[in-house]
Order: sequence, then C-alpha cells, then structure tokens
Amino acid sequence: MSCPICQKEGDVKYRPFCSKRCADVDLSRWLSGTYAVPSLREEGEEEVARAFEESLRNASNEALDAITKKPH
Ligand SMILES: [Zn+2]
Repeated sequence: MSCPICQKEGDVKYRPFCSKRCADVDLSRWLSGTYAVPSLREEGEEEVARAFEESLRNASNEALDAITKKPH
C-alpha cells in the first residue's frame, strides 16, 4: 500500500503512511479541514505538521513515545 501523502511505499509501522511525518500531515490536514484553512498548500503543510507535532509533544510526550516506540 502506498503512502496517501507522498505516494512512497508505506511503512508497516505507520501504514498506510510511509512515516510518522506523513501520518501527521494527514492528521493535520484532516484537523485543519475542520477549520477550512484556505491557504493550506504544499508549503503550508510542513508548517502545520511541525506545529501539530509540537503541540502533540507538549501535550503528551510520554504517551506519544509509548505509541510510536513500541518495543518488539
Ligand atoms: Zn509518505
């Protein structure tokens, strides 16, 4: 399954996305969609993704780590 964001091959860890970043981009797209941000374009996505990651980190750093760094 290819990544819906960048069309690269998906990573089983983040499927259907290829990386956490693309998963975040998708999520921030979805979130920003609820606010109908008209200027969200290719360049904006990265900023949105970064801001979103930061807010996640601030909100629940430990919880996020638990989700993304599951030991095998
Ligand atoms: Zn991707």
